[in-house]
Amino acid sequence: MSLFSAVEMAPRDPILGLNEAFNADTRPHKVNLGVGVYYSEAGRIPLLKAVELAEKTRAEAHAPRGYLPIEGVGTYDSAVQKLLFGADSEIIKSGRCVTSQAIGGTGALKIGADYLKRLLPDAVVAISDPSWQNHRALFEAAGFPVQNYRYYDAARQGVDLEGMLEDLRQLPRQSIIVLHACCHNPTGVDLSIEQWQAVLKVLQECEHVPFLDIAYQGFAEGIYEDAAAVRLFADSGMPFFVSSSFSKSFSLYGERVGALSIVADSAEEAGRVMSQLKLVIRTNYSNPPTHGATVVGLVLNTPELNALWQKELGEMRERIQLMRKLMVEQLAAKGAKRDFSFVAEQRGMFSYSGLTKEQVDRLRDEFAIYAVSSGRICVAALNLNNIDAVTDAIVQVL
Ligand code: PMP
Repeated sequence: MSLFSAVEMAPRDPILGLNEAFNADTRPHKVNLGVGVYYSEAGRIPLLKAVELAEKTRAEAHAPRGYLPIEGVGTYDSAVQKLLFGADSEIIKSGRCVTSQAIGGTGALKIGADYLKRLLPDAVVAISDPSWQNHRALFEAAGFPVQNYRYYDAARQGVDLEGMLEDLRQLPRQSIIVLHACCHNPTGVDLSIEQWQAVLKVLQECEHVPFLDIAYQGFAEGIYEDAAAVRLFADSGMPFFVSSSFSKSFSLYGERVGALSIVADSAEEAGRVMSQLKLVIRTNYSNPPTHGATVVGLVLNTPELNALWQKELGEMRERIQLMRKLMVEQLAAKGAKRDFSFVAEQRGMFSYSGLTKEQVDRLRDEFAIYAVSSGRICVAALNLNNIDAVTDAIVQVL
């Protein structure tokens, strides 16, 4: 008997598995609407000009690559705080927020979850129904029981606010509530600011611990606008966690650039929290990698590069919005048996299209169009070359 003879094959990650199937497909007209990646009009993952310039500066500096501090690049960490809260915010001035570089948004959630397990070992975690599938897996892996709170109302293609509030109220006091700060993945349906206020009130009443996940800042309305929920929590005075990801907004997926911010009552308290978070990081991966965060920090902290980045991110956002609009127009013009106007209202890279698993299977088998079986499609993978084929196919499978 070998050591591994009884090891079972783990299920494939559904979205990464979809990618493998897409790559193996030899049909030349194939389209991948599965994975959450922004593609340019030319169908490629862009290298932003702001990133290219920052990388050039960095390469020319010939900087040595020593170990970073456990919390990463300090100038990057402070730039992340400004992006979340605004440079003049009370949170930054008071020092009651601590931020650590993390290995992508996933890494930020992971160190946050591991730290929370030490802080609140018996807590329950609640995630939206539906949510990014790794939310559940990550918090379960950290040892928490994970529940859903009602979120998406398929009939209205909107938020079930009453259901959500009721579920949040019914959780044990001091539950950990994972919230998508903007561009909800997978539905593309966000809370309005009034709805956020109602949620915040319940969280305060129940002393829940909000964990805001912001992976698409800048993809809905703008960099500042998309952090409105984060600022609302900041103004409330309650403690909370924020995981940031720059994978999408800097088109730096493989560099793993993220951050975890924890907001406490005072600078003194925040300092103690950071000392504990550092222990978690130290025993996970010791300290983070240098390249991605240095580049993002350079862009954020250099006014000309920051302005260029904002412009480039704005172009990505506008291109996605154009694709949403074209998709709605084409589906209507081609006589789709359903009203798809909601697609233009959804925010971020995804649309919960309402397509069934059978329809998604037909799209793949008959038309070489790949989407997630839940019906989630990545609108950011559409372009003027493939949108016609995609809307033709959708009309035929409906
Ligand atoms: N949170 C959400 C909601 C996401 O959609 C993603 C990426 N798909 C992440 C976190 C993780 O981001 P990263 O790729 O930077 O780990």
